Amino acid sequence: MMYHKPTQTPTRRIIWLLVAGLLIVAAFGAFRSFQLRMPGFDQSAILIDGPPTETALLPSPPPVVAAAAPATATPQPEATSEPTPPSEMLAPPNDPPQFAHDGEIGIADGMVPEGTTVFDTDLPAIANLDPALLNALRQAANDAAENDVVFNVTSGWRSPAYQNQLLQEAIVNYGSEAEAARWVASPETSTHVAGLAVDIGPYKALDWLIQHGDNFGLCQIYGNEVWHYEYRPEAIESGCPEMYLDPTHDPRMQP
Ligand SMILES: [Zn+2]
Repeated sequence: MMYHKPTQTPTRRIIWLLVAGLLIVAAFGAFRSFQLRMPGFDQSAILIDGPPTETALLPSPPPVVAAAAPATATPQPEATSEPTPPSEMLAPPNDPPQFAHDGEIGIADGMVPEGTTVFDTDLPAIANLDPALLNALRQAANDAAENDVVFNVTSGWRSPAYQNQLLQEAIVNYGSEAEAARWVASPETSTHVAGLAVDIGPYKALDWLIQHGDNFGLCQIYGNEVWHYEYRPEAIESGCPEMYLDPTHDPRMQP
């Protein structure tokens, strides 16, 4: 079988080299095509200049392929299939919708400027108080003023939205609903929302009320809230009733 070697001409050698070269090119092409169909193969470097039809076979085309898509194609499906959620759907789930508020809590909700007195009836916090409570407060304030004692109202009537905001803040500050309930009532049970309670300051006024409040039917209701007063007309005759330790002991605060 050595006969062909000495008889091989330069032309036949060139033909053999060409055939071998074609076989190598064909083998490489087949291997590359097989590579592109392998799941997980990192094709990004190849696909930058690869044929666009091969992108359909790939599980996750790299961004460079999408950017190379022709401008005449139909609108991108991603643009319509995943719309941005409206911002109002991102409201916290714990916010009860019945107390939803359009804007900031303000004067109309019962917030009081510093230095508010029981005579500031232009403020909703004062004007919306129960008339009997407000009348008793004014009589007491007039009496106390003769001893240079001024009643400041730190909180009076509150809207349900304002009360709910205070409750949500208290839950955050006290760490639990149970502990917050010792200090802040719900919008449904709050005597402030009902217009039946005021918070009074400063301590000089509270000291005066401890001594004389029952003469006007003004009583501290909770042992842990020295500033919180309500109207108890029977106190004028028989003194203020025994206090609750805190609001959780008040039957009115039960949900
Ligand atoms: Zn109060």
